[in-house]
This record gives sequence, structure tokens and C-alpha cells, in this order.
Amino acid sequence: MTCHKACEAVEYMKKNLTSVHPMWLEPLEVPGGDRQSPIDISVRKSVFDPNLKPLVAQYDPRTCQQIWNNGYSFLVEYDDTTDKSTLRGGPLEDQFRLCQFHFHWGENNDWGSEHTVDRNLYPAELHLVHWNADKYALFEEAVMEENGLAVIGVFLKVGKTHEGLQKLVDALPAGSVVEFTKFDPSCLLPESINEYWTYAGSLTTPPLTEAVTWIIMKQPIEVSHNQLAVFRSLLFTSAEEGVQKSMVNNFRFQQPLKDRTIRSSFTPFL
Ligand SMILES: [Zn+2]
Repeated sequence: MTCHKACEAVEYMKKNLTSVHPMWLEPLEVPGGDRQSPIDISVRKSVFDPNLKPLVAQYDPRTCQQIWNNGYSFLVEYDDTTDKSTLRGGPLEDQFRLCQFHFHWGENNDWGSEHTVDRNLYPAELHLVHWNADKYALFEEAVMEENGLAVIGVFLKVGKTHEGLQKLVDALPAGSVVEFTKFDPSCLLPESINEYWTYAGSLTTPPLTEAVTWIIMKQPIEVSHNQLAVFRSLLFTSAEEGVQKSMVNNFRFQQPLKDRTIRSSFTPFL
């Protein structure tokens, strides 16, 4: 059996423990553990569900507030005190509010995404994080609960410069927080948002709670090598004082699918 890029990346990371962020060196409390993320999406084994509805993402750019470098990634944060930027439809029964988006990426273009499709890695993956505002009062409450979160995952592949992303790239902070406003996150969605896979999973960073309905876009977006290079020029916070490391390989290793079904909104073989 040949080793795919995904397991090559894992082997590489294991051999280079220095590139593991201190966040992962702490003992982790994983609740349950039967529906962890990320996972590999096997196209052949995913099940077409004709009942999956069109996805409705309505984002108000005026709710965009700031970029926060949290030392592991950077988060573009949105005002989620009202229903101004919302996600509904698709596999969701309720209305969810956008609170932030962020990316995961590798040290080169061979890996970086958290999810894979038939074991194929992308150089980066975007996560748009929403919480269930119909059922819960706060993000902090929703994150601990069943059906609390809905995360859209979008793969990034290397190609032409992404005009929408460039506004963000230009603003990427040297410091920990910078003001960043009027950014419409729908510019980062692929053209066909109604072709997606969905499954029940977890956050991929602590607390790793199994609160997430994942919606993974089939179609990647194109960004340039230079745009990803700016991501890689950011710095991790380090456990050791004064040691600065490039912010790269900020993805979690893949988790077993266990007893879960991945549903698709489209028929792969037509
Ligand atoms: Zn993420």
C-alpha cells in the first residue's frame, strides 16, 4: 500500500515535534470521542441525501470587527449579538450566527488542510464558525452543547490571486489585535455553495467538543502562493520565552470516522 501525502505529512510532523504548537503538548480532555474531527472524506462512501436543502448564508459586512492573532491562527471576528450575519438551510434545522472565521495551513503547498478528500490534502482550509442562536444565548454555551455549532469548511488551492482574500492579507497583523471592518466573508465561499458534504463532528482545537455540524464545500477556492506565504510569515506564540516560530502546520491530525455517515448534497457519479 502506498503512503499518501496525508500520512507523509503526519510522519513528517511526528519526526519534527518542535513544529507542534505548545497547545497540543497539554493533556487534552476529549469528551466522548466518537465523533472527532477532522476526518478524511471518502467520496465513494459518502451518501447522497436528496433531502439536504440549499444553504443560505447571509452575511452583513458591517458586523466584521477585528483580526485577532491568538498565537495558533488568526481569527477574523464578527459581532454576533444580533441575527445580522447568519447561516441556515443545508443540513441545519436552526439559524446560526457567524462569530469568526480562520484558516489552517501548512509550511508548504503539499499539506495544511485538516479535512482531506480521498486522502488528498489541500495547502489550507478556511473555517467559518457559526453558533446556534435559536437554541443558545451565547457562543460559550453553544460550544458545549449538541447541535451548538455549524462550521463551513472551504479548501484553498494554489492558483491565481484571490481578490477578496487580498484585503485580509494586506491587513494581517504584526500585533495581536487589529481593527478590521466591512469584510464580506461570502467572498471566500466557492461559486457552488450547494455542493457540500456534511457530517457530525467536533472542534479541531481545544476544547474539541462534539458540538459541530460540519459543512465541507466540494469546490475549493483559488489563492496565490504569495497569499499563503503571508500566512506563513506570521508567528506562533511559543512556550519558550523569546523563541519565535513561523505560524505553520496549525492543523489537527485526522481522527477515525467510527460509526458516522458523511452525507453529500450532490450525486458524485452523474
Ligand atoms: Zn478551524
